Amino acid sequence: MTPMLTSPPSTHQRIGRLAPSPTGALHVGNIRTFMIAWLQMRSCGGKLLLRIEDLDHPKHKVGADEAIMEELRWLGFDWDGEVLWQSQRQALYEAAFEKLRPQLYPCTCTRADIQRAQSAPHPGEILLYPGTCRSRKPPYPTELLNHPKTAWRLALTPEMHGTFTDGFTGAFTTPAAQCMGDFVVARGHDIAYALAVVVDDAATGVTDIVRGDDILAATPAQVILYQLLGLPLPRFYHVPLVVGSDGRRLAKRHGDTRIATYRQQGAQPGEILTPLARSCGWIGLEERISSLAELLPRFSLTTIPPTPFVFHGL
Ligand code: GLU
Ligand code: ZN
Repeated sequence: MTPMLTSPPSTHQRIGRLAPSPTGALHVGNIRTFMIAWLQMRSCGGKLLLRIEDLDHPKHKVGADEAIMEELRWLGFDWDGEVLWQSQRQALYEAAFEKLRPQLYPCTCTRADIQRAQSAPHPGEILLYPGTCRSRKPPYPTELLNHPKTAWRLALTPEMHGTFTDGFTGAFTTPAAQCMGDFVVARGHDIAYALAVVVDDAATGVTDIVRGDDILAATPAQVILYQLLGLPLPRFYHVPLVVGSDGRRLAKRHGDTRIATYRQQGAQPGEILTPLARSCGWIGLEERISSLAELLPRFSLTTIPPTPFVFHGL
């Protein structure tokens, strides 16, 4: 049976999702974004789904997914329906890949090749692909078709800009050609994250996507995929990340901010949620909360500062 690529019939119900990658333990950075996503849906009567993004990390820590779900529940999160694991949805991704195939071409450039070809350094980790292999035309040699490292890139046309209006940051006007160029849709048989996430969100009827603003520049590529696959575009809300006192993305060097560690030290959910809620402008300086649900009547996107939240510890 050909898997369905179209989303379920649209209803007025809003559907959000939490999409953790089981790459490690949950930390306060993940939780702040999840809080916003959870409250957005729970305060409007929408549904919230949970999807484990274990596609890029098939070998990832056994049990990390269970630990994430357990910690989320402990913090007061809940979700609706079945949990999805990306690693079990390969057939759906491959069907989408086949649909795109006429617009894809095989690329054999290495990262170093692309870096060398780049005229000016590009901000962030995304490399702007210069189009080196674009002139290749089918039929492609078998070794190229079957090679596990062949990158299948989308040949962007000027109409494919992927600009969109973000529900938090406003208009995002940098076209995909300037964000990443002809982006990768699959590498060998490994479907790229951008395609999987679009297929999944559309298949589950997601209408509202709250996630970290580190993904902002990768979003035009996803918008283009929605358009090419004929799927309705959800609304995106890219929210600021949590950073350490040095202004850099929260990481090990800032000390242990894992939820599991705070919990082992005897912290209660409210102690972890209080500074995060305060950083979103939902509670006052001296106020404390003891549960996520207490924030339901206070939720608003407009009180969240547009700048990263500097976390100094609990
Ligand atoms: N799994 C991604 C992450 O943990 C989420 C990306 C998304 O929400 O689209 O960063
Ligand atoms: Zn190439």
